[in-house]
Amino acid sequence: MLLKFLESFEDYVFVVSFFEKNELGKIKYYKRKLSFLKSFVWERLGSDDKKEINYSEKFWDKNLISKFEEFKKFRTIKKFKSKIISYILNEILGFKIDIDFEKLNFDISTLSDLKNINHEFFISLHDLLRKEGYYISYHLLFEKFYQIANFLINFKYGKGFFYEVYGFYSFIKKELRGRGVNFVESGSVLRFDRIIENICFIVREPNFCPVKFLQSIEVSFEIDRMISIEKEKIFIFKTNLCKVPLIFVISEDYLPYYVYFLFNGRYFPDNFIKHTNDELESFLSKWRELKIYSLDSFFDYLGVNPIPPELVDYPNIFEIAKQDDFQDLVNFEDIKGDLHVHTNFSDGRNTLEEIVKYCKKKGYEYVGISDHVDYFLERAEEYANLRELDGLRIFWAVEENIDPNGDLFSDKNQQAMELVKKLDYLNLSIHSDFKLSEELNFRRLKNALEKQKGLILCHLTTRVLGIRDPINLSNEKIFEIFDYANSKGKFIEINSHLDRLDIDYQLIIDYRLLKNREINIVINTDAHSLEQLDYMEWGVKWARKAFVKKNNVLNTKSLAIFLYSILSKYP
Ligand SMILES: [Zn+2]
Ligand SMILES: [Zn+2]
Repeated sequence: MLLKFLESFEDYVFVVSFFEKNELGKIKYYKRKLSFLKSFVWERLGSDDKKEINYSEKFWDKNLISKFEEFKKFRTIKKFKSKIISYILNEILGFKIDIDFEKLNFDISTLSDLKNINHEFFISLHDLLRKEGYYISYHLLFEKFYQIANFLINFKYGKGFFYEVYGFYSFIKKELRGRGVNFVESGSVLRFDRIIENICFIVREPNFCPVKFLQSIEVSFEIDRMISIEKEKIFIFKTNLCKVPLIFVISEDYLPYYVYFLFNGRYFPDNFIKHTNDELESFLSKWRELKIYSLDSFFDYLGVNPIPPELVDYPNIFEIAKQDDFQDLVNFEDIKGDLHVHTNFSDGRNTLEEIVKYCKKKGYEYVGISDHVDYFLERAEEYANLRELDGLRIFWAVEENIDPNGDLFSDKNQQAMELVKKLDYLNLSIHSDFKLSEELNFRRLKNALEKQKGLILCHLTTRVLGIRDPINLSNEKIFEIFDYANSKGKFIEINSHLDRLDIDYQLIIDYRLLKNREINIVINTDAHSLEQLDYMEWGVKWARKAFVKKNNVLNTKSLAIFLYSILSKYP
């Protein structure tokens, strides 16, 4: 019920944001809060004690409730209905009329309901239009309306940022694993596309029934549409919980499907059928002709080294793969620590002890605790001398905001200044004044790199995917910052937070092409909770998409090297 409620609001916010450009920022903010709320609900539903959940107010913490209330007040469903009908009539069909929509007999509360608008609605709308002097045939009105409705519905489904589909994707994967289903992944998520277009699982069990599987999942799970291609055993679901289609392929002979979806799967859901009718079939028959039985023999046949999934869409990758075996690219196993982690000393959710335990489990040698400076001041005395916990080396840092002049809080506050002297390093981030000119942004970042303890420039462009644009700074200027950081022995962060993924991998590629050298990289999660420490895996994938090598990544260095050859320069 609650999920349903959230879903309908999501549709509604989407539609409003589609029409009211001037309020985009505000709406995007709410939209983001909403997806946060949803993932929160999701998390609870996915947990083992899901039977005990009740949806009382206690379920939410105070902060969440107030955000939610704020969101609910934002618009009414009634207004949403009027908006969408007006838009279609005025902007698309060109009827410049004011209609009292309360008189019309229709009931839509979500975008998907547009498909189900009843005939009475069209009859009364048609009558109203005639009275106003507009003549349009009933059928044309009907047809136009559905065209537009379909456009809007498909606009909503079809693509999403990874952070928007991550909850759903992880949930399905966890359920499959939990039931011992033998599967491999392919398609958009496996490539880690910038925009995710599908979630594709290839199940290697002939008797697996995706419909039963989905029905057996104990959550409010509405299958919006299901396309089944029986002959090839491909099932495509659109659900109320995810923006992109969920694809199941059932085959013991999984390899050709894996390759097909990995290399070729750039589809929108609606033209997928067309593709499967011709291209997939000819691909499969070609594959069978060639008698290829392993992935290695597939690459052998092409005369190239095996190409990692996240690189298959790189231009010229087949040419590159003739020479490069990709063995020196950074791997998750190379990561020795995470140097940007928040605890409940500031806005993180977990305690230091919980974080240490989780990092140990990941096989790290060290962790850099990097809370926001003003919060950490109170706790510093208590903790800053703690060097090790449970055998994990702890580095103490703070994340400092770079003000418009490039100065930090600790430049102006005596107590913070004293604290910083005792710390191992500083993480430098822009958290305010996002609208400065390019010149000022360049100057502030350059100034920040002068700070003695500053080691890492975090989430440099400050973008939040789909929500906040990067700061005003051209690639040329960003490259100058990279150069300057290199010359000072400082590091540029790949922030693995799924809604940031900042810096973009394309920047790393472009810098290399232009300058023929590498950036000093560090891959951090900026985790605010234990689960977010898992984002490291995605940060590494992001780096690999830019061919980042292990050697160029700070946090692949062993504790001894990090301590004695790097930190020793930051007394
Ligand atoms: Zn930050
Ligand atoms: Zn942070």
